[in-house]
Amino acid sequence: MSTKGAFRVECPHCGESFDADFWTVVRGDRDLEVKELILSGEFDLLMCPKCEEMFQHEEPFLYIDPARDLLAFVMPEAYLEKKDEWLARMKADYEPLRASLASGQGLSGTPLYLFGLAPLTALLEQDRDREEETEVLEFMAREDGLQLLAVKPASARELDIPFSVPMPAGLKGRAAALKAAEALRARNDALPRLKKLIDALTSLEGDELTFLKS
Ligand SMILES: [Zn+2]
Repeated sequence: MSTKGAFRVECPHCGESFDADFWTVVRGDRDLEVKELILSGEFDLLMCPKCEEMFQHEEPFLYIDPARDLLAFVMPEAYLEKKDEWLARMKADYEPLRASLASGQGLSGTPLYLFGLAPLTALLEQDRDREEETEVLEFMAREDGLQLLAVKPASARELDIPFSVPMPAGLKGRAAALKAAEALRARNDALPRLKKLIDALTSLEGDELTFLKS
């Protein structure tokens, strides 16, 4: 599903110019090896065929993970110099794609426009931590016979809470979720996002859990 394009690049060490392959679209939910390259900082590393030196070269690409409701236009960091111009161009490029990308894939949120890999890497690292914490929470919840309700990924990021909320079987609403979350926290207080979930549930107005996936 991920696609590559070839671009001409010049080695900053010896001046050799050569064609190199770059990812133009990365599917974060399917291409786990490519996602790992981003997380490890090897994503845009090239080796010169002549002098064999390694160097970084950024090209714009699209990062898509429908399961996590993530769509990011990642531009080279150098584009920051003409940030407004590039943003306008990226947004214009996105408009004709909006309908097909959003409807077919379950993407609901507004796309992110990022400059350089660092903000994407930071986001993916936070999501990975959140996933690990969610797995622990889900394991404990199942042991207690609780059901789990999925949180909208964008809300999980915004509130910095787990990707799912524990709920006693047959119940729904804020008060029941709060009680279940507090019971889990009494057993394990090493989950910072469970604490934030309790805070979010405490401060929520009304009984409806507005941050759940519908
Ligand atoms: Zn070279």
